[in-house]
Amino acid sequence: MDGLIMDYELNVPAILRRGEQLFGDKEIVTRLPDKSWQRYTYAEFAPRARRLAAALRKELGMGDGDRVATFAWNHYQHLETYIGVPVGGMVTHTLNLRLHPDDLTYIATHAGDRVLIADKVLWPLVENFRERAGFEHVIAIGDGATPDGAIEYEDLLASAEPGDLPDREIDERSAAAMCYTSGTTGQPKGALYSHRAIALHSLASAMAGVLSVTENDTALPVVPMFHANAWGFPFTCTLVGAKQVFPGPFLDGESLLEAFQQEKVTITAGVPTIWMGILAELDANPGKYDTSSVRAMVVGGSAAPQSMIEAFEKRHGLRILHAWGMTEMCPLGTVSELTSRERALSDEEQFRYRAKQGTPAPFVEMRARGPEGIVPWDGAAMGELEVRGVWVSSAYYETPEGADRWTDDGWFKTGDIVTIEPHGYIEIQDRSKDLVKSGGEWISTVALENALMGHPAVAEAAVIAVPDEKWSERPLAVVVLKEGASAADDELREFLAPDFAKWWLPERFEFVDEIPKTAVGKFRKTALREKFASAQPAETA
Ligand code: AMP
Repeated sequence: MDGLIMDYELNVPAILRRGEQLFGDKEIVTRLPDKSWQRYTYAEFAPRARRLAAALRKELGMGDGDRVATFAWNHYQHLETYIGVPVGGMVTHTLNLRLHPDDLTYIATHAGDRVLIADKVLWPLVENFRERAGFEHVIAIGDGATPDGAIEYEDLLASAEPGDLPDREIDERSAAAMCYTSGTTGQPKGALYSHRAIALHSLASAMAGVLSVTENDTALPVVPMFHANAWGFPFTCTLVGAKQVFPGPFLDGESLLEAFQQEKVTITAGVPTIWMGILAELDANPGKYDTSSVRAMVVGGSAAPQSMIEAFEKRHGLRILHAWGMTEMCPLGTVSELTSRERALSDEEQFRYRAKQGTPAPFVEMRARGPEGIVPWDGAAMGELEVRGVWVSSAYYETPEGADRWTDDGWFKTGDIVTIEPHGYIEIQDRSKDLVKSGGEWISTVALENALMGHPAVAEAAVIAVPDEKWSERPLAVVVLKEGASAADDELREFLAPDFAKWWLPERFEFVDEIPKTAVGKFRKTALREKFASAQPAETA
């Protein structure tokens, strides 16, 4: 006997056991499509998750590693699938509701999805790809008539007992879940998450100094459960026994604020566009909502502009916690939680730090590579961020052509251009493909956008590179003005001028009604580039 510690499996069943045994009376609350509320406890949730797993195996013949796709809003049945499927040794594959049917067909076929679990309210979209994707079984969630050829979710659950699930340990290195990236180049690519990665990701997310999620929290993930593993919330919350609140299909500012108030939400998470909607609703209705329970609004997926962070805090006492991550990383990479070092700085400096992406979570390592090799951590040199760690993908699922995203020594190339400060604080300057290269020098479109969004008349701003005869590329700003507001090119340029080198300032501004967004709510810069590529050569640059 070597005297070593037990080889305990870090897996999703262990997460569920803990949630059920220790926090049975904690609530899981969902807003249903008719806007009513459904509530039950962990003690009710856990056996249903196990029934689902047992029925998928016993009734539908699913086995270890088989893929179960979901096409659903955030709700309790989606949580049952998230947890139940891997507890049964299968793999949950969340499909993005906002993708084109051709992409959904490709993704579901590529992943080998055998079963689809989908919301009845989404059935018109399901019909667009269901046949082509070739699912063996389709399961329907929600009220109303059973769609043709589908099995009722509740009937499936009723067909098995929790005890029907074979009692065995699941290898922590086996797959538990998968998600395809919404990347804009080439075919979508799959990230396959192991039980071990999810368990450690949950533990690290819960840590103080990361997201600090505890049993005392009430968490409302606005981030869709189909976006990058719902940023780990379903697993982290079940592990620590936090109350979970799911918004269903209602993601507008008013519905979310109502939910925060009614359920006394303490932590919530989503992309910046969602928070812009919430900010507008709060600004328009002073005193209407009591948001005093909210301790952290996690913002990630795109950069959180400093002006937004300040507006929430100064006008509404709401604290934004800025985080950076990727589908290929389960997804948590860094969190901008201030350390004692930054807390000693002035308020203005602290806001500046909170708008950066922060420092890496434990077990995630970072470095950045410029044209000449690894760049120094001096807060100035820009390079492409490379990461490695316990929950970072080692390859895309069955996509050999994606292999160039990993270095020879096994680090993942994120495609994000960053600067790193001496103490490890990163700031994302751009996506490598979005940077503007003007006269051989890089201009950060993110920095210009965030500054523009601080102008009182600007609702949204996206900056893109447009071809230029003299400088090769120049920045062009696409701006959406707030309702009833006006601002001309010169005014916006003057607004930027104090904070940027002269050659960074865009010559050209385009005013539009809306900036096209990707399926997860980020600016779709490819569409803007197509639209505005024929920029006139800049004379004043
Ligand atoms: P996804 O896998 O769809 O979540 O996309 C990951 C990408 O989103 C990253 O590589 C970044 O380019 C971007 N991203 C995520 N979080 C942030 C953030 N806090 N600030 C800036 N960009 C972000």
